[in-house]
Amino acid sequence: MTEQAQRQQLVEVARCLNASGLNQGTSGNLSVRIPGGLLITPSSLPFEQMEPQDLVAIAASGKPLEAAAGQRRPSSEWRLHADLLASRPEIQAVLHCHSIHATALACHGRPIPPFHYMTAVAGGDDIRCAGYATFGTAELSALAVQALDGRLACLLAQHGQVTLGTSLDQALRIAIEVETLAQMYLQALQLGEPPLLSAAQMAAVHQQFRSLHYGACA
Ligand code: 13P
Ligand code: ZN
Repeated sequence: MTEQAQRQQLVEVARCLNASGLNQGTSGNLSVRIPGGLLITPSSLPFEQMEPQDLVAIAASGKPLEAAAGQRRPSSEWRLHADLLASRPEIQAVLHCHSIHATALACHGRPIPPFHYMTAVAGGDDIRCAGYATFGTAELSALAVQALDGRLACLLAQHGQVTLGTSLDQALRIAIEVETLAQMYLQALQLGEPPLLSAAQMAAVHQQFRSLHYGACA
């Protein structure tokens, strides 16, 4: 895919995030891997106003890949995106948003336990919640890299969620699943803590995902 096509796809997925109710205002950011670095959404620009030329190409150090006049500042979370892409060579895209239900759980520092089989979509039994650190810091990035170890999604305490994908579409699909699971879990909690699937039951789900090429395996 050319960089121009990647820019167009980032704009489309960003608009889709807002349209699906997963993101609003200036929250959230997206990136994809490009030769020499990453292409990332600009800081503080609402997605509905963002055009392909507003995306910023940076190296893993955060430096612009080329000094173009009028270039926007990269997302304040560029380090989170760069560190995740560096630590996960198989990953092509990173998505971060403040979707309501995932964030509500994250405000309690709570992971999403295996109350429903679809928690396997992130690659493990539960969806971890990374500890709190100030947005845009190396500390937050380190906590997220750790919480995402072997996984495609995590929550960020008092902040939101992060998903990864071998494509931007996969990262988006997983973010929608995480938000749906968080909403279901909050609803289920109305009747008390729901029973959890056992490790053996979740192992069978992972096996089924693999054999059907389902979920994160798709
Ligand atoms: P940016 O607008 O800088 O991408 O920040 C939004 C955000 O979600 C910070 O965590
Ligand atoms: Zn954020």
